[in-house]
Amino acid sequence: AAAAALAGYRGPGRTRDGLEVKVLANVQDGAGARAAAARHAEGVGLLRTELAFLSRAEEPSVEEQAAGYAAVLEAFPGQRVVVRTLDAGSDKPLAFATMPDEENPALGVRGLRVARRDPGLLERQLDAVAEAARRTGAEPWVMAPMVATVAEARDFGQRVRARGLTPGVMVEIPSAALMADRLLREVDFLSIGTNDLSQYTLAADRLSADLADLTDPWQPALLALVQATAEAGRRTGKPVGVCGEAAADPLLACVLVGLGVTSLSCAASSIAGVGARLAVVDTEACRRAAQAALATDDPHDARAAARRELGVE
Ligand code: PEP
Ligand code: MG
Repeated sequence: AAAAALAGYRGPGRTRDGLEVKVLANVQDGAGARAAAARHAEGVGLLRTELAFLSRAEEPSVEEQAAGYAAVLEAFPGQRVVVRTLDAGSDKPLAFATMPDEENPALGVRGLRVARRDPGLLERQLDAVAEAARRTGAEPWVMAPMVATVAEARDFGQRVRARGLTPGVMVEIPSAALMADRLLREVDFLSIGTNDLSQYTLAADRLSADLADLTDPWQPALLALVQATAEAGRRTGKPVGVCGEAAADPLLACVLVGLGVTSLSCAASSIAGVGARLAVVDTEACRRAAQAALATDDPHDARAAARRELGVE
């Protein structure tokens, strides 16, 4: 029955009792977006714009960027597409944006922080997104990676709104999760990047195999920050999604929904598994699973508790 449901997922995402949860795709270009649309993604929850430019020595022109973003928007007419501004630095260095020889690049000038030194790079990228929107008639949302403070969210929100676009920020740093209410006074949505949020919450390199038990997305401390962020969204009536790898695990996806997130964004190959699982669970069971997982002391017990409450696997 599970395999049949998996093959049969055609969207939209919803729980058995009818709670709508958008199941979106993480993509890096137009071809990826078209492939995700074929797998019944309801849109794009994370366009990783930096991945198209990893091998470039020079900043791509506004025209080249606009054409690339338009190709993604065209794959999802009338649907949500969230464009993330360049997340250069740390594990994704870009020759034209990254500081060479940082002592500690994961804690250095990465993501939105690049705009401190070079605001023009961000301005030109936002111009390109606005141009892609104009050409396609789409209304993309735009979010910044690596936001740590309310002031950063305010500045980003103003730059995005000045172009008639909808601003949001990623929650990847514990300070952002703790300030989620105040971030939502500045921007219209939040998207939780669990890959970096676990790295910065547990102080463990996301690329280290030796520390994978710490960066396990089932860590109760990570779940607690997801809950705090989602509750801020509920209080303000604004969307809070998850776009990190956590959203690709069907069991954890149910827990995230139980914690209150309103959308999930994952690799296109994971969409059917997540969508099919949501379709067979009730919201109340997701809430119970979330509370049970939060009450445990480690990832292994959190997983077992969620499994028990949801009656799966
Ligand atoms: C994340 O950190 O969870 C995220 C989605 O961003 P990236 O993996 O591109 O850093
Ligand atoms: Mg990240």
